[in-house]
This record gives sequence, structure tokens and C-alpha cells, in this order.
Amino acid sequence: MVLGVDVGGTKVAVAAVEGVTVRDSLEEPTELGSTAELLDGIEQAVRDLIERAGEPEAIGVGVPSQIDYDTGTVETSVNIPLTGVPLRDELSRRFGVPVFVDNDANCAALAEAHILGEDNLVMLTLGTGVGGGVVNGGMTFRGAHGLGAELGHFTLNPDGPPCPGSCPNRGCIEAYCSGQALERDATELAVDKPDSRLAGCIGEDGKVSGRELVSAAEGGDPDALLIFENFARMLGIALAGYVNVFEPDRLAIGGGVSRASHLFLERAEQEAGARALPALWRRVTIALAEGGADAGVIGAAVLAGQEVHGDTPTTHATTTERAE
Ligand SMILES: [Zn+2]
Repeated sequence: MVLGVDVGGTKVAVAAVEGVTVRDSLEEPTELGSTAELLDGIEQAVRDLIERAGEPEAIGVGVPSQIDYDTGTVETSVNIPLTGVPLRDELSRRFGVPVFVDNDANCAALAEAHILGEDNLVMLTLGTGVGGGVVNGGMTFRGAHGLGAELGHFTLNPDGPPCPGSCPNRGCIEAYCSGQALERDATELAVDKPDSRLAGCIGEDGKVSGRELVSAAEGGDPDALLIFENFARMLGIALAGYVNVFEPDRLAIGGGVSRASHLFLERAEQEAGARALPALWRRVTIALAEGGADAGVIGAAVLAGQEVHGDTPTTHATTTERAE
């Protein structure tokens, strides 16, 4: 048994995992007051679960941060106070078992690959920003230091809008296909067209929220539908690029924005299919992610299992039915 820990901006989830099955789990609010409080909160949550589930062989931890994988040191961390923290060493010292730390998007991709039994998978996470992970031959692709696979930061348009992430570029995928990009476009349109439905949706913060935009599009508002048409087109261009570069068996789309996939996914696939190299496009499945709410802890646990046992996804997939 290994433990998977998913440290999010609002909660810390800990699970005892066998293969890709969660045996026991708990959640605690993330302590954001200071690094020390955050680490103590993680330690307490893990200890509480160990008390119930027993001592693990290893612990995998996913964090919403850039990680130098070999040392397990956090390079940068925007939403939780971990920048510069040698997280792997710190947690290994506290628990006395091997600890492995990775970016949460990498963990989600690894979970998706294991749950479905796919050795070659790209997962794109469309949330406030755009993240993702690449699983190649059953293993997480990380680049030289673990900082690679930044799927949101690839240029679609060199003269496009500034990238909303902590990124100096313009016109990145994140500048077009993120929740922030949708809100930006909806707000700009609302300001330009004071008589539009979206103009009536401007909130107290001066912005049109993603939720309002989705509801306007579902109600058939042409302005909102046009924003999703542009979103879908740019997403399709990005998907074609990922297919051409990585040639995955499956390209999974997750994240909060994917809940509005009925407003863009079919159109994005059409765009991607018209642009990707045909021999590659024929072989790939584009689908919503199936990992669900436990993907973060499962992926972190799979990572820990791979590190201590050298497991690959197929060793799990042979005995489990493919989730549908
Ligand atoms: Zn960028």
C-alpha cells in the first residue's frame, strides 16, 4: 500500500491506494498561513490516515507547483507557500519512508493513464490556467529537471493577448483556452456592447464570470456562442499540435472548464481533425478525462508505486476492467 497526497489550494486530500483503487481517504483544509503551517497540516492529515490505514511503503505527493523532480524541491508555487521548499526531503524526514513529489497535473495524467490502461496519453487540464501532463511508454515525461510538459505555454499566436500565467509570452494556449481567457473575452465584449446580454452579466468586480458566460451560451446568446466558437477553434489548433508531437493513443481533457465541453469539444475536434496529420489523427481518441475527483491522490500514489517497484501502467491495467 502506498499513500497519495494531493495538495490543492483549498484542501489536502490523502488516500491509501492499492493499484488504482482508493482503500481509504480523508480531506483537510489547506493551511495557507505560512510554509510551516502548511507542512504541519499535511503531516497531520497523513498521520491521521496512517493511523487508520497502516504504515505505507512510500508516499507520493502532488502539488500545484513547479518541481525540480530529482531533488523534490519546489521551484515556484503561486497559490500555496512552498516556493524554494525542499519538500521531498522535508516530508521524508517527517515520515521516515520514501517520498516522491511531482506537479499535480503530471499526477492527474498518470492517474488517467493507469485507470484506463493507456501507456501513451496526453492530458490537458483546462482550468483557471491550462496545464497538463504527458505519459509516454507508461512513464511521466518530465524534461531534464521535471519542469517540462507545460502544455499551456506553447504559442498559438505570436501577437496574441498577454499570457495570464506567470509567463512572459503572448498568445500562449493558456491565453486562449483557459477560464481566465474566457472571462477576459466575455468582459471585453460586454464592455464594447453595452446593450448585449453579457453586458448585463458584469459583476461587482467589473467582470463577466465563466459561469455567466456558460449560462448565456446555453441560452443561445450569439455573443457568448461566438466566444466559445473562438475558444473551440484555438483549442482544436492546440490539440492538433499535441497529436502531431506526442502521438498519444488518447488525449484526455479535464479541468473545471471541461464541464462546459458541450459548448466547445465537438467543434474543437473538428478543427483538430482538419489540421492534424491524418495518419496520427486516425489513431487517437479525444475524450473527457475519466479520473474524477480522486485522480490527484491516485496519480500521486501510482508515482510512488512506480518509484519503489518500477511498476508500469499495464501491470495495473491487466487485472482491472477499463473504466467506461
Ligand atoms: Zn504562457
